Amino acid sequence: MLCPVCKTKRCSTIELEENLKAALCEKCGGHWISRRNYSAWLKQHRETPLERPYSEIELDVDDVREVKICPECNRILMKYRVGQGLDFFVDHCPGCGGVWLDRNEWQALQNKNLHGEIHKIFSTTWQNQVREDQMAAKLDRAYAERFGEESYKKAKEFRQWIQGHPLKGALLAFVSDENPYKI
Ligand SMILES: [Zn+2]
Ligand SMILES: [Zn+2]
Repeated sequence: MLCPVCKTKRCSTIELEENLKAALCEKCGGHWISRRNYSAWLKQHRETPLERPYSEIELDVDDVREVKICPECNRILMKYRVGQGLDFFVDHCPGCGGVWLDRNEWQALQNKNLHGEIHKIFSTTWQNQVREDQMAAKLDRAYAERFGEESYKKAKEFRQWIQGHPLKGALLAFVSDENPYKI
């Protein structure tokens, strides 16, 4: 196999997980997983869940941003942001459905228990969620900047408490009234 990053053929077949074969580029440490191998492996785990202990360890991934060509069918690989706290892209072939993972990306996905959900990352639903999360994070930073960290923290606590409170309207009127003790 020709590595999509190094364009070398120094790749070997390894077992990423029990019964999951992948090609490993010995030069850049990236992995190629064919759709067939991934689907077959997933099928085996329908009964036995993939659940691993959640890990907060942040791995240093390579995330090579350049355009890559599919080693199986020569099409251009499409980049999809992973999200869920992982700030990198995985490459997916629209032709054969294979997946390219740069160095440490598989391990980072494993740490978040997402290694059994790679196929979902390429769906519209997943990508919409990623965009929503990005927008929320952006607004979160903007609010913190505008209100100041401390006031923002207080406002968030208050907001959480009042949302769903049966007397929300009355409480908000009380809070915003300059003198609620005067009729
Ligand atoms: Zn390589
Ligand atoms: Zn392909």
